[in-house]
Amino acid sequence: MWAVWRPDAIAVLKDKKAKASLARYFDVMQNSKIAKFLIAKKLPAEFSEKSTLEELWKLHEELTQEYYKLERKVDSKQVSFKQLETPKRSYFDLKIEIAKRIMENCHFCARRCGVNRLAGKVGYCRCGSSIKVSTIFEHMGEEPELVPSGTIFTLGCTMRCLHCQNWSISQWYESGTEYSPEDLALEVERLRKSGCRNANLVGGEPTPWLWLWLETFKHVNVNIPVVWNSNSYYSEETAKLLAGFADVYLLDFKYGPGECSKRISDAPKYWEVCTRNHKLAKEFGELIIRVLVLPEHLECCVRPILNWIANELGASTRTNVMFQYRPEWRAHEIPELRRRLTRAEMEKAIEIAKEAGLTNFIT
Ligand code: SF4
Repeated sequence: MWAVWRPDAIAVLKDKKAKASLARYFDVMQNSKIAKFLIAKKLPAEFSEKSTLEELWKLHEELTQEYYKLERKVDSKQVSFKQLETPKRSYFDLKIEIAKRIMENCHFCARRCGVNRLAGKVGYCRCGSSIKVSTIFEHMGEEPELVPSGTIFTLGCTMRCLHCQNWSISQWYESGTEYSPEDLALEVERLRKSGCRNANLVGGEPTPWLWLWLETFKHVNVNIPVVWNSNSYYSEETAKLLAGFADVYLLDFKYGPGECSKRISDAPKYWEVCTRNHKLAKEFGELIIRVLVLPEHLECCVRPILNWIANELGASTRTNVMFQYRPEWRAHEIPELRRRLTRAEMEKAIEIAKEAGLTNFIT
C-alpha cells in the first residue's frame, strides 16, 4: 500500500547511484547480507567487569579490526553466519560494557558533561538512565531508500536548535514512555516483521541513549539494518562504539565552520566534531548526509559543507539537500529564520551542489 504513496521508494531499488553508495545496506535490507550488530554478537571478547576502561578500549580497538575482517568473510560467504557460535562474551557485549561505564561520566556527545547518569544525575540533554520513547511507527517521509522506515523517536537532544521541528520531543515537552531494552527489542522486531526496511534510531537525538540502544539490540533477533539518525554532535568514543552497530549513518551536516552553530544551536565546535564524525562514518559504514538549507545561510554554511563533502568524502556521496525548513519553536529569535526559503535560495543551493561537483545528491 505504501508504494502507492512513495513510488520513488520502489524506483530507488534500481537507482545505480543510490545502490553504489549504500550497497551493503540494500543487501541487508533484502536479507542477502547480515546486519552488523548480529555479526558483532558472534565475535568473542575476553574481558570482565574488573577490567579497567583503558583495557576495555584497547580490546575494543583490536576487535574492531577483527570485526571488519569477519564482516568481509561473512559477506563473501567464506564464513557461514549460521555456523558461527555465540560466544560467552562478544565484541557487542564489550560495547555495552564500555557504554555503561560512559554513563557514569557521561561523554556520549561533544559536550562531555561528565555527570553520573547511573546515579540519577542528568546533563545538558536531560536524559536519565532509562530510555524514554515518544513514538514508534513506519515512517513514510524519509529518503526513498529508507521507506518504510521503522522509526523510533526518543526524547532529549544534545543540541538546542532554536528552529527545531521536533522541539516537543527534543526539549522534553512530552514525558514519553519508558521502555525496557527487552520490550523495545520486541518493537524493533515487530517493525521488521511489518515490512520496514530498517530500524531508524532518532529523536531528539539517539546519542544520549547509546548504552540503552546497545542493550536493546542485544535482544533483537531479526536481521534489520540499523540507521543511526543523528545531528552528528557526538563524541569520538561514541563514533567508535557505533562501528559494528550502525549499518547506515544518516547524519545531519547543519553548519559551516563559522559561528552559526553556536548562535542558532548552542553547539560550539560543531564543524570540527561533525567533520570528524562524517569521516569515521564513512570508514565504519555507509552514509547518507542531510543538509537542511536555512534562509540566508547559503554562503556561510551550504557552500562550505557541500564543498567539504565533495572534497573529503567524494563527489558520489549520497547527500540530501533539504528545502523543508519552516520556522518552528523559537526560530523567531533568529531574524533570518523567521521565514521559509525563497525559490531563488532553493535554486542557488542546487547550483552550489553542482559547482561542488556532487553527483549523487537529491532534493
Ligand atoms: S549525552 Fe547528555 S549528559 Fe551526556 S555529555 Fe551529552 S549532553 Fe551531556
